[in-house]
Amino acid sequence: MTHALIKGETGEWEMVIGLEVHAQVIANSKLFSGASIEFGAAPNTHVSLVDAAMPGMLPVLNQHVVEQGIKTGLGLKAQVNKYSVFARKNYFYPDLPQGYQISQSDHPIVGEGIIEVDLPDGSTKEIGITRMHLEQDAGKSVHDMHPSKSYVDLNRSGSALMEIVSEPDIRSADEAAAYVNKIRMILRYLGTCDGNMDEGSMRADVNISVRKPGDEYGTRAEIKNVNSIKAMTQAIGFEVNRQIDIIEDGGEVDQETRLWDPVKLETRALRSKEDAHDYRYFPDPDLLPLELTDELIERIKATLPELPDEKKHRFMNEFSLNAYDASVLIAEQNRAAFYETVVKTAGDAKLSANWVINELLGALNKAGKDLDDSPVIAEQLGQLVARIVDNTISGKIAKDVFADMMESGKDADLIIDEKGLKQVTDTGAIEAIIDEVIVNNPDNVAAYRGGKDKLFGFFVGQVMKASQGKANPTIVNELLKNKLS
Ligand code: ADP
Ligand code: MG
Repeated sequence: MTHALIKGETGEWEMVIGLEVHAQVIANSKLFSGASIEFGAAPNTHVSLVDAAMPGMLPVLNQHVVEQGIKTGLGLKAQVNKYSVFARKNYFYPDLPQGYQISQSDHPIVGEGIIEVDLPDGSTKEIGITRMHLEQDAGKSVHDMHPSKSYVDLNRSGSALMEIVSEPDIRSADEAAAYVNKIRMILRYLGTCDGNMDEGSMRADVNISVRKPGDEYGTRAEIKNVNSIKAMTQAIGFEVNRQIDIIEDGGEVDQETRLWDPVKLETRALRSKEDAHDYRYFPDPDLLPLELTDELIERIKATLPELPDEKKHRFMNEFSLNAYDASVLIAEQNRAAFYETVVKTAGDAKLSANWVINELLGALNKAGKDLDDSPVIAEQLGQLVARIVDNTISGKIAKDVFADMMESGKDADLIIDEKGLKQVTDTGAIEAIIDEVIVNNPDNVAAYRGGKDKLFGFFVGQVMKASQGKANPTIVNELLKNKLS
């Protein structure tokens, strides 16, 4: 159950969550300047005169970022608005030299949409998207470099963000996690955001309230800049209980902005919530309204890749995979492509899925390696699986061959050859082994013939052992049955 109700002293409570996901746009440069957005550069080295808000500088809209925004809107199956407006959101912050952020308010580039999220129990749920707009990121204040001074790094200042706002449709921490995961997967497929939460290229503001099921929405608190799924899950857990306690003690939840403290594992008040009018939004006089043509939108539509849900359903249909295997395989595009190459070489789709998911991903995980750095490439794994399919080796031997491949990077066929692992299908050779096993185990033979059917497994084991695992199991079974009867 993901739609969890929480027990309080006065009965059950339901949480209501809406997320604002900020995603940094993959682009050549910032939203309104030519400065680089590369992560990890020395402080204040990626700052143009526009980003530093020098007097008289004019913003120039980055066409590529606009196209990325359109692509994202289409990928989220949301309404792309042909008319949108950049507005100034006015506030003071030491890392915001302009004194305002250029954002979109009443007329965002993307309107309503719906995304389907995959929950841990295998079910799915639709979460509404309210809107997505483009905006500038702020710089960064650095408080831990000097005992008494704070520093400002403007590298991030002016980078393009997409803010994706959800409807308050989320009802549990699991749903929130599934939603963020799905958005991240879609943006990665689209190539519009790398989704690296630990580098800050994706972060979420989490709006939370609680209510008795069926009641109106309660007052919400907004937890700012949560930068991992784990932190989000913990913050939701803490915040929901804090709010229930307040209300059950006869108090009221304040509408305020809070932050998550990952060390003390609590949310703390940051400031009472500004209303939109406090920002005095107005259209930026330096920028014309953004008008998109149908041709541009159509051209971008034609470049959309196969999206995660479509790929998952295709894998289930084309390869007869179950939903779980399909979800694992499509979680990343390179993984899905790897799998498709394995199937092409090996033939057996289900067996290929098992090998990619259980053996390969398991081994890479153990070695702390990414798929892109795998010592075994897709064609090689395909060849190995093909040797199981065509009975050259058993599944058991294949695991040894695979371990060798991971070590040496050699082809399966080469290893099978060098080590003489080819399965024995020569009935004469297998018969000889069986005869020896029968001679060496007279008591068990007598017991089996006397009705102890269970001993059959023992004989199979002995024959396999004597053949060093190389005897073809089907032939062993057949011949043993004849010889023992
Ligand atoms: P603002 O722009 O002031 O942050 P919005 O109305 O745009 O406010 O809402 C921001 C987010 O808060 C949205 O994701 C929305 O779904 C969510 N939200 C709105 N009301 C509630 C509520 N009562 N409880 C939880 N989340 C809410
Ligand atoms: Mg907000």
